[in-house]
Amino acid sequence: MEQSSFDVIVIGGGHAGAEAAHAAARMGADVALVTLSVDGIGVMSCNPAIGGLGKGHLVREIDALDGIMGQVADAAGIQFRLLNRRKGPAVQGPRAQSDRAIYRTVMQKTIADTPKITTVEGEVTDLIVDDARVRGVTLKDGRTLDAAAVILTTGTFLSGKIHIGDETRDGGRIGEHASYGLGARLDALNLPTGRLKTGTPPRLDGQTINWEILENQPGDDEPVMFSFLNQAPTAQQVSCAITHTNPRTHQIIRDNLDRSAMYSGRIDGVGPRYCPSIEDKIVRFADKSSHQIFLEPEGLSTNTVYPNGVSTSLPEEVQADYVRSIVGLEEAKILQPGYAVEYTYVDPRSLKQTLELKALSGLFLAGQINGTTGYEEAAAQGLVAGLNAAAQISGRDAVLFDRATSYIGVMIDDLTLLGVTEPYRMFTSRAEFRLSLRADNADQRLTPLGIEIGCVGEDRARRYAEKAAFISDAKQRLAGMSWTPKDLTAVGVEVAADGGRKDALTLLSYPNINFGHLVALDSTLDDIASPIQKQIEIDALYKHYEERQNRDVQAMKRDEAWEIPAHFDFSALNGLSNEVTDKLTRAKPRTLAHAGRIEGVTPAALTIILASLRRARCQSA
Ligand code: FAD
Repeated sequence: MEQSSFDVIVIGGGHAGAEAAHAAARMGADVALVTLSVDGIGVMSCNPAIGGLGKGHLVREIDALDGIMGQVADAAGIQFRLLNRRKGPAVQGPRAQSDRAIYRTVMQKTIADTPKITTVEGEVTDLIVDDARVRGVTLKDGRTLDAAAVILTTGTFLSGKIHIGDETRDGGRIGEHASYGLGARLDALNLPTGRLKTGTPPRLDGQTINWEILENQPGDDEPVMFSFLNQAPTAQQVSCAITHTNPRTHQIIRDNLDRSAMYSGRIDGVGPRYCPSIEDKIVRFADKSSHQIFLEPEGLSTNTVYPNGVSTSLPEEVQADYVRSIVGLEEAKILQPGYAVEYTYVDPRSLKQTLELKALSGLFLAGQINGTTGYEEAAAQGLVAGLNAAAQISGRDAVLFDRATSYIGVMIDDLTLLGVTEPYRMFTSRAEFRLSLRADNADQRLTPLGIEIGCVGEDRARRYAEKAAFISDAKQRLAGMSWTPKDLTAVGVEVAADGGRKDALTLLSYPNINFGHLVALDSTLDDIASPIQKQIEIDALYKHYEERQNRDVQAMKRDEAWEIPAHFDFSALNGLSNEVTDKLTRAKPRTLAHAGRIEGVTPAALTIILASLRRARCQSA
């Protein structure tokens, strides 16, 4: 008989769902992953690429907690590039172009090989709710499944509508129908919801592109992997090409704007400002006569090419016209038209920091349904929901992430406190402590936490302990070595001659000194493995910044200690502008630190709130 009772049910096998199921299983839960099509697990709906600035940091953090996205992306990577390579390590983001088919296959195999996950194909149409708690799900074919916790990760499928020019049809993704039943259940819970939109470009037949005349973009000579467990790519590596739109392309688009679903007023949802459609770019940046397009192969065994930068909801024939106006694409054949999808999201302010819905115990929400965009943001939320669902049902403490120690914490805090006004995407600029939240040290920041809560397997725990021991031994060795300015000058380092003798770690904190210089001073240091040398070099470089940042973190923690009562009346305070009062009243910050993170809330406004909290504390003392 088919199993019908589980600890945790995950609805949806996208990026959030797969990560949620795996995380809950790592925590020991018996998990059912219910999805419309098992073959759709790990599908990349839009661009075949993982990572980038901020997003790459999220993938590293998922990996540090033994999640799966980083390892799958490494297996599927056909071109690796470390973005911002010339800038400091804090803002460098690993990115890889993926082979779409390999990504899906490896993700499906990873899920299938995880002993505590059962995949169930079907459409969930309702939740079973009893005594103000979710108890399971009902499927369209009448089956029911029970569980103590349910994680909803339905992406763009909730009341999804696809738009291509003047054509509109129901659907969560091209070729897949939308999900309506669950929408009704969420309506009944009276949750605040809204509509968002996103779009994707037409896919091109690579055999019809004139590659010869286009600029080539190869990957990095020394590819940087996502997973701390991997050293080098396994798939064959390829190059992309670069082309540009031109005035003729822009004219074709301008002439047809009234036929674009986004511009004809048929889509109400708000789109991602940082990932605009080509129609948006041409209207918003009217003075620009050209936009860059990356032609990215979708894989090794397909001719499909993804033109990154021209997502659209224009009619198919207009798409064909503007594509062919572009250099190198004069003969290009469109394999699948671009389209926009409009969908319902749930205001993430209705969630706790565990991603459990405040209004219904046991129901967790993760991924695009919470108003985010992107695979990485979805997967990171899946991880948080999976860990917490499993922790809750086994009576363990909630697993909370804060903004001082992870990008995951930054995202969860932003979503649950501020909500979204457009699809939320991660950037390094969102993290005020970004100098310490680097992609290179995600394991040092999070793997110990993962080991403590029980989501990190033995292999990773052992390898992490080995690496930590190598780093600590090497640092001890370096702390006992020192050199004079004269020694340094002898190996070609320019330093002020009047300075004193300095130990090796202090010297490494100077931007003009690297590990190679230390090896030149003492060749025995060459026995330290080069990844360990690199890590020590970066740690030393950021040490002083981090010390300063730690003081800011302490200040934030002090402000966190000032709790704002749930029914605090901001309108009763003298000196706050109407706009700030309104923002605070809507956001209902739980602490003074939260209030400070609301856009437009100035230090002066915080002082007024703090004075009122102090008065209240004195009166009650
Ligand atoms: P999804 O990956 O969409 O997965 C949802 C899963 O839920 C699917 O497996 C589906 O089968 C399942 N499901 C839905 N309803 C039910 C049900 N009732 N019962 C059972 N299973 C169900 N991101 C960017 O960063 N940049 C972009 O430019 C971009 N463009 C996009 C364009 C389009 C057209 C689309 C569709 C997405 C785009 N994205 C883009 C977003 C990116 O694809 C998503 O953010 C990411 O896939 C979200 O992951 P998810 O797990 O939340 O949802």
